[in-house]
Formats: sequence, C-alpha cells, structure tokens
Amino acid sequence: MNPPSPTPDEFSSLPLEFVPYPPLPPQTTPTPIQTPPAPAFALPNPNAAFPSFPIPKKRRRGRPQKTQTSFHFPQFFPPKAAQNQQQKKLGPDISEEIIVINKESTNEALTGLSAGFPADSLTDEEIDARVVTNIGGIEQVNYILIRNHIIAKWRENVNVWVTKEMFLNSVPIHCHGLLDSAYDYLVSHGYINFGVSQSIKERFPNEYTKSNVIVVGAGLAGLSAARQLTRLGFKVTVLEGRKRAGGRVYTMRMEGGAGNRVSASVDLGGSVLTGTLGNPLGILARQLGFLMHKVRDKCPLYSVGGRPVDLDMDMKVETAFNRLLDKASRLRQLMGDVSVDVSLGAALETFRQVYEDAVNKEEINLFNWHCANLEYANAGLLSKLSLAFWDQDDPYDMGGDHCFLPGGNGRLVQALAENVPILYEKTVHTIRYGSDGVQVIAGSQVFDGDMVLCTVPLGVLKSGSIKFIPELPQRKLDGIKKVGIWTAE
Ligand SMILES: Cc1cc2nc3c(=O)[nH]c(=O)nc-3n(C[C@H](O)[C@H](O)[C@H](O)COP(=O)(O)OP(=O)(O)OC[C@H]3O[C@@H](n4cnc5c(N)ncnc54)[C@H](O)[C@@H]3O)c2cc1C
Repeated sequence: MNPPSPTPDEFSSLPLEFVPYPPLPPQTTPTPIQTPPAPAFALPNPNAAFPSFPIPKKRRRGRPQKTQTSFHFPQFFPPKAAQNQQQKKLGPDISEEIIVINKESTNEALTGLSAGFPADSLTDEEIDARVVTNIGGIEQVNYILIRNHIIAKWRENVNVWVTKEMFLNSVPIHCHGLLDSAYDYLVSHGYINFGVSQSIKERFPNEYTKSNVIVVGAGLAGLSAARQLTRLGFKVTVLEGRKRAGGRVYTMRMEGGAGNRVSASVDLGGSVLTGTLGNPLGILARQLGFLMHKVRDKCPLYSVGGRPVDLDMDMKVETAFNRLLDKASRLRQLMGDVSVDVSLGAALETFRQVYEDAVNKEEINLFNWHCANLEYANAGLLSKLSLAFWDQDDPYDMGGDHCFLPGGNGRLVQALAENVPILYEKTVHTIRYGSDGVQVIAGSQVFDGDMVLCTVPLGVLKSGSIKFIPELPQRKLDGIKKVGIWTAE
C-alpha cells in the first residue's frame, strides 16, 4: 500500500488508538527567549527571516548528527529602502542602525549556533546577564552580530587568547559598549578563551583573590568548572569519591598478543565526541593537537545469522520509517497541546499498522531496529517519549562531525585535571550551606568553603545519598525527581 500524503481530513479518519501515558510536566528545557513585538519606531522586524528547525534530526542511522544544510540563516540586513524610510522618520540616529562588521555574518551566525547560541534571540543566560539594555530590536541584533563575530574569531584559532582590543577597529565606535558586553559575557561564561592551550594556561593567576569554592565530583563537568573558576581567581578544591578523575569517562588500556606487544585503548564510558565543531571537547582536542577519527556515516545492517540485509528492503524500510516520523510531526501540529499526552511510540506503531509499511517478519525486524536506534538517540523508550517534545532539543545539537579520539577520552581528562587540586576517595555525604559559607562533609572530614558546586550525576542526587542542609529548594527537588535517567548515560 502506498498512501498519498495525508491531509488534515485524512488524519481525522484514521483509526488512531493512542496509548496515553501520564502527562509530562510543563516544558522545562530552557527555550531561547522569543523576541517581543518590535517597538513602534523600530525598523522592520529583523527577526522575521530567522532560522527554523522543522525537520526532526534524530532519524539518522547511528548517532544522530546534524547537517548544516538543514538550517536557514537570518538575513540580518533589512531592505535598504526600509532602512532609508525609517531613517527619514527618525532622523540620523546611528544607534538604530544594524551594523556591518564584515560580510560573513551568516557564517558567523552558523559558528555562534554551533557554540549554542540561537541566531535570532538571546539565551536565557544572556538575558540574566543583561547583555543588552533592551530585549528585541536593533541593539539586540547588533549585540548578536558582535557576539557571533567574537566567537568566530576565536574559533579560527582556539590556541590564542583573543582580546577585546582585537575588535576595536571592526566594531563601529558607537557599539563599543556592546563589544564590552559581548566580550565580557563570553569570557566570563567560558564560551571563548577556555581550555588547555598554553596561552590559556598562562592566564591562570599566580594567587587567588576570590572566594573558596569546593567542587564535588571530578568528572568532565567538575574538572572544567574547576579550571574555569581557577582562571577567574577562585581558590578551588575538588572532592572526588573515586580513586581517579574522569567519572563516566574512563579509558582502559589493554595489552595482548605475543609478549603483550599489542595494546589498545578502550573507552568504557563516554567515547564519541558528538558534534566536534560545537562540542567544547572538540576544542580541547584541537588545542592539544589530537587527531580525531570521524565516525563513518555508513551503518550496514545484518540480519539474524550474520547475513547482510537486502539493500532494497533496507532502503524501503528506512524510507518508510522516516515517512512515518514526518507523519508523526504533522499529526503533532494538528493535535496541538493534546499531543503532550500521546507517546511517539504509539503514534509510530499506529501509523505503521495503518500504512502497512513493514509487513513481513524481516521488515518488522528492520523497523524495530530503527525504533531502537531512535530510543538510543533519545536515551529513553519510545513509549515514554512525548509526541509533543521528543525532538525539542534538536535546535541545540552541536554542529560538526561525531568523532573518536585515538588513545581514548582519558587523554582529555588528563589534560583537564592537570594542576587542578583534587582530593580523591572523598565521598561527600553532607552539604551544609548558608549565608556564612558551606561545609562539605566526606566521611569524618569537614571541608569549609565559601561556595560549593555539586557536579555529581543526577542518579546520585535522586538516590538521596547526599544530604543537603537545609533541604534544596523545592524547584530543584522537583527537577531532580522529574528528569529521567537511562542506563547508558
Ligand atoms: C557507558 C557510557 C557511554 C557513554 N557514551 C557517551 C558518548 O559516546 N558520548 C557522549 O557525549 N557521552 C557519553 N556518555 C555520557 C558521558 O560520559 C557523561 O555525560 C559525562 O561523562 C558526564 O560527566 P559529568 O562530569 O557530568 O558526570 P560524571 O562523569 O558522572 O562525574 C561525576 C563525578 O562525581 C563523582 N561523585 C559522585 N558522587 C559523589 C560523591 N557523593 N562525592 C564525591 N564525588 C562523587 C563521581 O565519582 C564522578 O567522578 C556515556 C556514558 C556512559 C556511562
């Protein structure tokens, strides 16, 4: 059966029997702040042509990977005629003009996007940091252009320390306030000038003038935070429960063959550097001059018994699977809010039966492989994923290839841990905090500090093995309870 592409009416006639699961809590993923309506005096809305992300990216075989071609980039420059008309109304106020830093604003928007910045809006974090005086409008657009320009400049050579002075000539003088704002934000929040290159190590202060911070956990999060805080002048101590750093990243060296002359490194935990353009670990690897091996896109499938799957059937089922995902996306649009109560698994299975896309045993096996691959990508069962939100993180995917690091990711851990004061075998069981500082207790030892940064895994927090005194605020407790964990991560 090869049904025509469905229309809304067609959907309404389908015998859909969805198995609802308990409604999800309201969406908690930080969403980029939408630009409020432009003020009456502003130029035509500069956000009108900003990017959209309509296509679910997680359908790909293997680890899902974003392709740059799926983006539409902003046209930062409104038609000249509109600008002129506006200028007539307003008079020549240069603060109301969109600036031109160079001709590469689209490429720089792509770089900013791969670093986690939406091209058309500020992040929640930027809004909290008050990077602009007014949200929306021209000042914000100019800020975004400058911010993207600085990020792009650093990404050209991540081994150097970029200074504000490098941009004084390219950014018009009336926007130097925005340059200050963007540069200070990016440096203090660790979006540029971070890592393990010599030029960054040289910026570490000789003495620490700021507060004492105790970091709990020496995984990638704890080590990165400890380095950044140290560079900013904080005195840091890391308490780690295990005898080693790295947490869920652990490279094991294996030897074998005659006289143990063959050796190999195997990552027992985190192994794939996903999206190495945006991923800070990709930047560390570049700074260290490590080669990266791209994970191939090829993903041949084998049937039970080790026979390669018939290519025609493979392609047919993959196409059908992707088509069902498209149908699920369209159904979600039609259902609106109600789709929150429908699982992606139920929608796919219903469509599969209705459209008879996978009918014989081998086709169903292949179809199930795609379902399993999607579950792997989402770290959750399809029956537990909401049709409404299952791909809500697609816009935040990091750009670039997925790669392996020869020798294992332990090499990154080693570089991050260099000169970081870590106390091992200190399993923290109590954290007292208040306005006069913190006490972090491991066994019978009490560590006093001004602040504590707890980077233990969500599962540890869920288990309640660390007692917080006073108890954590309710919104944090709710978050710890509601956010799920799966076996792989
Ligand atoms: C098998 C596996 C495969 C994975 N594959 C990938 C992959 O291919 N790509 C990818 O990007 N990610 C992968 N991940 C996920 C990735 O490894 C993690 O997201 C990342 O390492 C988490 O780092 P973290 O610092 O947040 O936490 P962790 O690495 O868990 O670090 C937390 C640290 O806190 C310590 N700790 C815990 N409790 C206490 C306590 N009470 N007191 C003191 N210390 C404590 C722990 O010992 C640990 O060292 C994988 C994970 C696993 C397990």
